[in-house]
Amino acid sequence: MDSPEVTFTLAYIVFAICFVFTPDEFRSAGLTVQHLFSSWLGSEDVGFIQYHVKRTSITILVHSALPLGYYMGMCIAAPEKNLGYIHQLSDSWRAFLLLSFCLQLASWTLIIYWSHLHWSNHPISRALQAHAFPPYSGWGTVATSINTEFRQIDKFATGAPGARVIITDTWVLKVTTYHVYVALQNDSHLTVTESRQHQLSPESASPTQILTLRVESINPNVRAFDIRLNSTEYAELREKLHAPIRNAANVVIHQTISDLFLETFKAQVELNQPYMLPSGQDLEPCIGCMQFPAGAKLIRLCCEDGQCCQPCFCRPMWCLSCLGRWFASRQDQQRPETWLASKVPCPTCRARFCILDVCLVH
Ligand SMILES: [Zn+2]
Ligand SMILES: [Zn+2]
Ligand SMILES: [Zn+2]
Repeated sequence: MDSPEVTFTLAYIVFAICFVFTPDEFRSAGLTVQHLFSSWLGSEDVGFIQYHVKRTSITILVHSALPLGYYMGMCIAAPEKNLGYIHQLSDSWRAFLLLSFCLQLASWTLIIYWSHLHWSNHPISRALQAHAFPPYSGWGTVATSINTEFRQIDKFATGAPGARVIITDTWVLKVTTYHVYVALQNDSHLTVTESRQHQLSPESASPTQILTLRVESINPNVRAFDIRLNSTEYAELREKLHAPIRNAANVVIHQTISDLFLETFKAQVELNQPYMLPSGQDLEPCIGCMQFPAGAKLIRLCCEDGQCCQPCFCRPMWCLSCLGRWFASRQDQQRPETWLASKVPCPTCRARFCILDVCLVH
């Protein structure tokens, strides 16, 4: 293999992956199907359903053309292979060309089939058809209802561009690259199935908890689907959504940054050396909550480059949760990324301490 061929292949693979999964860099450069075909697609606000019927169709056509694009690029990148002359091709290139061609042909056939009778064969239209009973006379009226509600500014909308979640007065919608999932709020029930927590770290600006909710409908023709959102958006979702939400996995939903920070705080303190309680001394209840034993002690451990915290000689008086809440309350609420590195005064003696000085009492 000579190098222009390998270079082109690698570059094309990276390009194709980025084009299909569109990272933010591609998005801001306008290299998305939505942007490239924006004049044909029209406005999402004017006709939400029509827009996404067209967008998903064109996305399939463009994505399925990527192998053919590779072949044509290769004609230019490796002219010595004579890829332009079909009768001179090696077996493997002929097979590749044939497959790419069939893929493109198949997707055109599919789109032409979908577009019949005003796109009524399209999967989005079929998803709407499942709701076509009174008060809706057909999938067209369902589409009109969704279009109208999508234009309202009080809808709930969140999520990455490849998995947007939109909740309007009567509908739950999820927009993905190739499909739009639709469920009627009144028919649906949601279940919190998973929670993934990302702790505050130098890489992420603030701690996050991502919740996965399964949307199921009593309508047997509606396919269940998953939606994902940030736990801090949960209250807003609850406000817009009348459907019941079941918490199957007993997930603790942290709705504020401080709640989320407490998890990070505890995990960080676990890494510090423990404090051994002198024999004969008992743990008192925490003076903050009076519920838990005062299991945290401040010991100056962090002298680095002559920069020390102040020594605290207080006996253990606070539980770890209360101390963590105190720590969070003393921070710049707008800048959670600074929280881990900052110093706050001891709630009792005002000696300044940092997170490295918090020890669990054993
Ligand atoms: Zn407490
Ligand atoms: Zn103190
Ligand atoms: Zn310190």
